Amino acid sequence: MAETAKILNPKSTVVVPDLEAGCSLADGCKPEKFKAFIASHPGSKVVSYINTTAEIKALSDLICTSSNAVKMIEYLEGERIIFAPDRHLGRWVSKKADRTDMILWPGACIVHEQFSAKGLATLKIRNPGARVLSHPECDDSVLAQSDFIASTTGIIREAVDCEEEVLIIATEDGVFHQIEKELSVKGRRKTILQAPGMDETCSCNQCPYMRLNNLEKLYLCLRDLSPQVTVQEELRLQALRPIELMLELSK
Ligand code: SF4
Repeated sequence: MAETAKILNPKSTVVVPDLEAGCSLADGCKPEKFKAFIASHPGSKVVSYINTTAEIKALSDLICTSSNAVKMIEYLEGERIIFAPDRHLGRWVSKKADRTDMILWPGACIVHEQFSAKGLATLKIRNPGARVLSHPECDDSVLAQSDFIASTTGIIREAVDCEEEVLIIATEDGVFHQIEKELSVKGRRKTILQAPGMDETCSCNQCPYMRLNNLEKLYLCLRDLSPQVTVQEELRLQALRPIELMLELSK
């Protein structure tokens, strides 16, 4: 995200609390291997999720978010499409856009992939009437049991607006606070349950990358304007093209 901000705003100083706060999706899609993957499917258009490095964006024709992915795929009607890096999101988008022929890079988010379909089924039995809200980065077996599938923003909105008083959420647990905050503005409260992980002894629903950011580091990066995000100019221009196309198509 910070790199995308720098790509779009080259003259601005872009700082982050911790340069190591990346993403397993970005880590699991290295440029050299991705280049070879693209070369093995000649003639394909490459659509990459926003959670990728500048190098992967530079190899792409179009960028998408989980909110606009279906729209971006529909724009490429008739084209052979490579989708990267999240295979679960890719599979969900391909179904929604009726493009089951999409070629998926075999990446996954370490947080969303760990939700347990069996655990979710048990939790649903214990909480009849609960509404299940999931992010499309979850495995198909979890999505198949969900009442609502959407991006983080979509999940927060639905959690606040829906009638159900008990919610089961299958995404990173950082959204809980946001949902509770928005509910409290409306003077409401709901019971929010985390979808169980495969290993119930760990907090696998918490993203270790996001958790590297904390208030102290945020304060220090604003005070010292460091560490700064930099993107080499030639790479920036290559990565800018598919991002700008996404922004144009999103108007
Ligand atoms: S939860 Fe963490 S690892 Fe998963 S997509 Fe978000 S930032 Fe990446």
